[in-house]
Amino acid sequence: MAVVILQDKCRGCKLCLKACPFDAIDMVGKLAVINEKCTACGACVEACPFEAIEKQVAEAPKKDLSAYKNVWVFAEQRAGKVMPVAIELLGEGRKLADEIGVELCAIVLGNNIEGLAKELAQYGADKVYIAEHELLETFTTDGYTKVITDAINEIKPEIVLLGATHIGRDLAPRVAARVDTGLTADCTKLEIDPEDKKIKQTRPAFGGNIMATIVCPNHRPQMSTVRPGVMDKAHKDDSKCGEIIKLDVKLTKTDVRTEVLEIIKTVGELVSLTDAEFIVSGGRGIGNADGFKLIKELADKLGGVVGASRATVDAGWIDHSHQVGQTGTTVKPTIYIACGISGAIQHLAGMQSSDVIIAINKNANAPIFDVADYGIVGDLYDVIPQLIQSLDKVDD
Ligand code: FAD
Ligand code: SF4
Repeated sequence: MAVVILQDKCRGCKLCLKACPFDAIDMVGKLAVINEKCTACGACVEACPFEAIEKQVAEAPKKDLSAYKNVWVFAEQRAGKVMPVAIELLGEGRKLADEIGVELCAIVLGNNIEGLAKELAQYGADKVYIAEHELLETFTTDGYTKVITDAINEIKPEIVLLGATHIGRDLAPRVAARVDTGLTADCTKLEIDPEDKKIKQTRPAFGGNIMATIVCPNHRPQMSTVRPGVMDKAHKDDSKCGEIIKLDVKLTKTDVRTEVLEIIKTVGELVSLTDAEFIVSGGRGIGNADGFKLIKELADKLGGVVGASRATVDAGWIDHSHQVGQTGTTVKPTIYIACGISGAIQHLAGMQSSDVIIAINKNANAPIFDVADYGIVGDLYDVIPQLIQSLDKVDD
């Protein structure tokens, strides 16, 4: 893509200079000239009243879409442990692959990780592509991007799924740009169109107020990142063994611009909302940060963890790692108890797939009751102590 100035039309009015955010236009005599800072953003095109600037799009060579086959799952591993989202993607990937009638494959990167390939096969991967190299010991954006891009260009998968973790969110757009395809980020639902067998990717859009379904008709692979905790995990079958294929990793130190010197884990309470069976969440209705003591008491009683609405995180009452919802964690526990949470759509986006939802709210018209299986209308400071007392009696 390039932006060009049509010299015969340029009148030297300089309006494009003001419109360009990158200082990428110079005046040479009475003519505007694009310099090397141009990013082809096109901001100047609209600004020119004389139609003297054009954005020229080079025709990309057409890809043979039929050459792309199979569903790939990026099996993110950290310190030799497969991340739970990769198991969820294998569960979802299996359904998609079966519907299209293709194979489910996992791709795993690291160093000395051969044992993981066997495990991924036990979770249902028909083929596991394994990329081992000392430069892949820890995640680096450059190293992972190059290896996955090379693999996609060579093997040509039809669908590539990544977890919307910090790593997945960093990696997926870079890989998508390099292999010249689109990416639907942060999907909450994937399904195959029965007519053309293309994947329909659904994600919240416009601040979570609508769900948008996106397709990728002209490019391959079709790529999505999927929120952790949304899809059902694949079941492990120790008797299963897939084909393990070692990738020829072509990576040198010059390919990787960063060096990981040390990994320092954040000190603090670890919350694993995605794996929790019981979550008790507090909202603005708890009134202040101290209110979370009561929420934690109930969570501890159930052997669960504490969740929170964004309002409480924004108020500084609790750490963001506890936040449930569109910009927090998506959860799917057996029981979700929402205490003093109104039920804004952005909160519901992160918890409405819970098996059982219990809501405690003093406003009988609060929208949370629309999704709740059990609703208790009342002051949480009356209701929760009574719940704890009842649970004490069960324990006795
Ligand atoms: P409120 O809406 O203020 O509700 C408080 C509730 O407590 C009320 O229903 C009230 O009746 C009840 N109450 C008050 N006192 C008591 C009491 N003593 N006992 C019982 N009930 C009581 N929100 C999220 O949660 N997660 C997200 O990830 C998220 N992402 C967002 C992303 C975007 C782009 C935007 C625009 C917003 C996002 N939000 C998110 C914010 C969301 O829109 C709401 O503002 C937020 O969820 C409200 O939090 P709340 O329910 O705790 O507070
Ligand atoms: Fe030339 Fe158009 Fe830029 Fe004016 S806005 S200087 S006419 S290119």
